[in-house]
Amino acid sequence: MKLNVKNIRYVTPEDWRVLTAAEMGSRNHEVVPTPLIAQLAGLRSGNGVHRSISNLAKIGLIAKVKNAKYDGYRLTYGGLDYLAMHSHTKSSTIYSVGNQIGVGKESDILVCANEAGKQQVLKIHRLGRISFRTVKANRDYLRNRQSASWMYMSRLAAVKEFEFMKALRREDFPVPEPLGQNRHTVVMSLIDAFPMRQISTVGDPASLYAELLSLIVRLAQYGLIHGDFNEFNILVEEKPEEDGNVSLIPTIIDFPQMVSISHPNAEYYFDRDVACIKRFFDRRFGFTSDEPGPFFKDATKTLVKRLDVEVEASGFSKKMAKELDIYMKEHGIDGDAGDIERDEDADDNGQEIDPDEPLGAEQEAETPLDKSDVEEPAIDPSDTPAALA
Ligand code: ADP
Ligand code: MG
Repeated sequence: MKLNVKNIRYVTPEDWRVLTAAEMGSRNHEVVPTPLIAQLAGLRSGNGVHRSISNLAKIGLIAKVKNAKYDGYRLTYGGLDYLAMHSHTKSSTIYSVGNQIGVGKESDILVCANEAGKQQVLKIHRLGRISFRTVKANRDYLRNRQSASWMYMSRLAAVKEFEFMKALRREDFPVPEPLGQNRHTVVMSLIDAFPMRQISTVGDPASLYAELLSLIVRLAQYGLIHGDFNEFNILVEEKPEEDGNVSLIPTIIDFPQMVSISHPNAEYYFDRDVACIKRFFDRRFGFTSDEPGPFFKDATKTLVKRLDVEVEASGFSKKMAKELDIYMKEHGIDGDAGDIERDEDADDNGQEIDPDEPLGAEQEAETPLDKSDVEEPAIDPSDTPAALA
């Protein structure tokens, strides 16, 4: 389910209308009847509509579904991707799309560029993808049978990520610059740094350690717990100083798991974030601190601001938060932190925890950011379809 923009220039204005209609129809139809697509597109159910439908089906943006009651089409992830790319192009957020730099369980990360050629990051949320990957989850999915819920939930994850990134950025937290959001996608600035996971040695682990823990505390003072604060979601830039030392500048990413300090399990998530950092510094750098904590109760004693409440009042409502929360729980979506814990459980007793998990899923969960993707022009007009327009 990789983004493939190769065919986007062949999509005619009429095709876009029909694709949009298929999307609208799929909000309340698992299979959108062809006459409804025509009606929503505002086109007469004639040759035009059928030509568009067949064009769209040929490039996999919609898929024909034969149903007991009627035939129709459903929007595919590819179709949703194209609609989002189309909107980003129209709003001049994205001009071209380049290499994929990461594949998560619930997202794809690509380099993209704006019209000025500035490199950015496109994150495509793909909730529900895991459901199709594992037999067990697939059974659950079939049992729940929530039509088009992957589409809606992926959008919720993108909205949540974008709203929190905006709020955090406003308060000067070290996060990427949020540049745009459409459907299940978020566009943000590209951070020229490696995930901490890939850093083998640091000159002074104590100061980076202290900085990361103080970030967890500062987040709590703003009403928030990252919920997935670990070596995958902390990008560390190594910046040479004039005095010859190298300073390490962390940037926090990946916000769909963010929880409010009023969440019933807030303290658990706070402690887990702290434990992730402690464990990583111990294992990787052999660094342990004698100081206990930080503790949730202390961190939330003096609140500076309630970003959790602020975001709730903006684009990501309480209702949306709840829906996403329930879905993630039901589908066992637990971020990287859950993986790390499971990883270690598996290490300890020498066997996989979930036999239904396909081989290689763990490795695939986080493809490291290759430096070459950052420094070299990712948008090579000769090998990528590049421009979307
Ligand atoms: P997931 O939810 O799949 O874990 P993340 O947002 O954590 O997605 O991104 C996955 C990986 O993609 C990160 O570990 C990082 O290597 C890379 N990445 C994500 N966002 C950026 C960014 N803004 N700049 C540079 N690399 C990024
Ligand atoms: Mg991540």
